[in-house]
Amino acid sequence: MNPFVLANWKMNGSKNDIERYCDELTAYFHRLEPHVTCVVFPPFPYIALSNQKLQHQFLFSGAQDCAASAKGAFTGDVAASMIRDCGGKYVIIGHSERRQYHHAENTMLADKLKQATKAGLTPVFCFGESLEEYNQGQQMQTCAKQLEAVFKHPHLQDTPLKRVILAYEPVWAIGSGLTPNPIDVQNLLEGLNDQVLENYTQIEEFSFVYGGSVNEANFQGFISQPLIKGALVGGASLKTETFIPLIEIANQ
Ligand code: PEP
Repeated sequence: MNPFVLANWKMNGSKNDIERYCDELTAYFHRLEPHVTCVVFPPFPYIALSNQKLQHQFLFSGAQDCAASAKGAFTGDVAASMIRDCGGKYVIIGHSERRQYHHAENTMLADKLKQATKAGLTPVFCFGESLEEYNQGQQMQTCAKQLEAVFKHPHLQDTPLKRVILAYEPVWAIGSGLTPNPIDVQNLLEGLNDQVLENYTQIEEFSFVYGGSVNEANFQGFISQPLIKGALVGGASLKTETFIPLIEIANQ
């Protein structure tokens, strides 16, 4: 399977920025044909545009969140089926910024995963410990609990999840310039990998990616770990000059 390099634009960009960026990525993919799956997650209004502009078999667009319900009186929400309708193929669920600022809690996240799967989107499910938990050496307990709370949730028990990307994002590493030791991340993911294989049998296929202050200087250390199959990238994904080098590293 190709490694993943995922661009989380957060609330950044404009129509012009997205157009230029997607054109540059498309040209790069046709020129060098990297065997890397790359997904751009722009703000909702630009998903159809990015989908139209990204023209290569390994280039996709996705959304940064989706609603926990299928449709109806939920002003401001965007249904997973609408994202699919606009050409999105992936959706980020449980990003720490959604957990922190939008009270995304476990039942809601389980419902979002269900909606995403029903709509044919591949979820990128984010989890990770806070700085306090990290300082107390609680990474394994915290991450295991976060996965269990959602993947063992009664709302997800009858839902086969064809493919899930599990994005380990220590909250303290997001946007801070700080990163954990890649070997520690590998060790953590080994434990979580066993947990997923043993307990969450409704997940048919999964891969782990790392997220949190990934850049050209540190990505090699992460991607060379056997269980880290790519990265979810915020800041360094906003310009092709800082994002394409990550695709190059993943392609080696
Ligand atoms: C993110 O928001 O998912 C993220 C990893 O951001 P950054 O790369 O800027 O730390």
